[in-house]
Amino acid sequence: MAVIELRDVSFTYDGERDALSHVSLTVERGAHVVVLGRNGSGKSTLVRCVNGLVVPDEGRVLVDGRDTADPDDLLEIRRHTGMVFQNPDDQMVASVVADDVAFGPENLGVPQPGIAALVDEALRRVGMAAFAQADPAELSGGQRQRVAVAGALAMRPDILLLDEPASMLDPAGRADLARIVAGLHAAGITVLHVTHLMEDALAADRVVVMDRGTIAMEGAPDQVFARGDELEALGLELPFAQRLARRLRALGVSEALAPDTPRLRDLEEALCQSRSSR
Ligand code: ADP
Ligand code: MG
Repeated sequence: MAVIELRDVSFTYDGERDALSHVSLTVERGAHVVVLGRNGSGKSTLVRCVNGLVVPDEGRVLVDGRDTADPDDLLEIRRHTGMVFQNPDDQMVASVVADDVAFGPENLGVPQPGIAALVDEALRRVGMAAFAQADPAELSGGQRQRVAVAGALAMRPDILLLDEPASMLDPAGRADLARIVAGLHAAGITVLHVTHLMEDALAADRVVVMDRGTIAMEGAPDQVFARGDELEALGLELPFAQRLARRLRALGVSEALAPDTPRLRDLEEALCQSRSSR
């Protein structure tokens, strides 16, 4: 069943150029959808539509059948939708981790006795329970982003919106975050995830590629990455394995040895097979 539905959505910030132009998108309940696209292609605007930070000029956005343009519906949508932005510092509000995570449920009017349990559970889910009393300023960027995810989870969301949450993180922080997102998806949360990391896209159920406010490509990761030339034309860097295989083929290595795959383990397998069959 569709939990997020954009129906022919258009939106402009300045009245001149469409940030979104006739976008239609359906996200099934429990899916992990990754959104790719070059800078300015409309990714952030797309996810902001889902929790009503952006209300379309034309078309409709339905979340669980509720319309973001209806103020009563919007309140209910926000109760069920957590959002995490690029920079964790943009959403840190308190000087103690637990207070920060409590901010969302407090805002929703959850009675005080229930909040401590929500905060505790959320911090445990991101592996930050030991830091409940810490000062966010003393944590690493990756830890702060995990706290930001906990803040979204404390609202017990059905939907998690992630807008390039890993872009300020080092590789270890990114790997942690990817594991957390995979765990939340496995637990049934619907994830709409803007990223510039191809590894994130490979882990998704479905990939949507934006270009100039429209959806240029959409499909399972392997379907999308099979169209490498088009992805490059849309300003995206292909996954490492795929770039390496392409370089090797340009040097005359056969397709069997250097298959056009985005997945490193497939490339590794092909190269090892050739060694062992000599
Ligand atoms: P992305 O997240 O893919 O980089 P955005 O959704 O942020 O893209 O932006 C889409 C388009 O809307 C871009 O042309 C951008 O310049 C414009 N835009 C985004 N935010 C604003 C804003 N607050 N005011 C005016 N224009 C904006
Ligand atoms: Mg953006």
